[in-house]
Amino acid sequence: MLVMIETSNQEKIKIGWFTFSCCEDNLVVMTEVMNDHWQEWKKLFDFRHVRVLKSQNILDELDIAFIEGALASPDHEAKVKDIRARSKKLVAVGSCAVVGLPAGQRNYFTPEQKESIDFLVTRFGALASVKKVSEVVKVDVEITGCPMSPEGFLEKVNGLVAELRPVN
Ligand code: SF4
Repeated sequence: MLVMIETSNQEKIKIGWFTFSCCEDNLVVMTEVMNDHWQEWKKLFDFRHVRVLKSQNILDELDIAFIEGALASPDHEAKVKDIRARSKKLVAVGSCAVVGLPAGQRNYFTPEQKESIDFLVTRFGALASVKKVSEVVKVDVEITGCPMSPEGFLEKVNGLVAELRPVN
């Protein structure tokens, strides 16, 4: 059975969710899980930078940063490094973030296929190869799946909550 641990008088856990190159299905899974857990989560979490939930977001310091999607441009690399520097825990969410696929399938194109998309890579200032998150920053926790499973997500979230807000 999955159990959410609620903070007592402690500060809420600051959460950020960031999307890079992907289809955002992990985000959909997270919001579906939230349908069942919002009453616990609103006491436990400060959704500090989660654009799907609100328009006014703050990026200062985070306890947990969730990263979905692969990194496809120098801007992506710079942004994820900035998020890493602000976060106690960084979680790679879903296959695109954890292994770089399927978002990075152009890495495996034939030379002819690569040549045919070169103009797009140049036009959009993309990296020569798409990267998984751990190629650019330290990742503390990985949640696999395409998309992740609700159960796997809750298990990892519960583990992080227990680590950040241990119950005496
Ligand atoms: S891992 Fe799969 S579901 Fe998740 S963003 Fe990538 S393609 Fe979409």
